[in-house]
Amino acid sequence: MCVVCRERFEQSTLIRLQCREGTLELFGGSGRSFYVCRDCTEHKKTSGQLARHCKSNAPMELLKRLKEIIVDVG
Ligand SMILES: [Zn+2]
Repeated sequence: MCVVCRERFEQSTLIRLQCREGTLELFGGSGRSFYVCRDCTEHKKTSGQLARHCKSNAPMELLKRLKEIIVDVG
């Protein structure tokens, strides 16, 4: 389930993420993870949700990082 829109999707349409040392990474296989769907990268609530999950006060940095990750994933 996407943490922003709370819709359920096929696993393949979701990006599985984790927070590490205050920044966002693709899930590496251990630790806590959460999902964001590709449709939500432009959602106005996304940066706030990322900040909440990462316990960060730099939501726009996390959103920028999310966009980079999605470009990398293709
Ligand atoms: Zn979503």
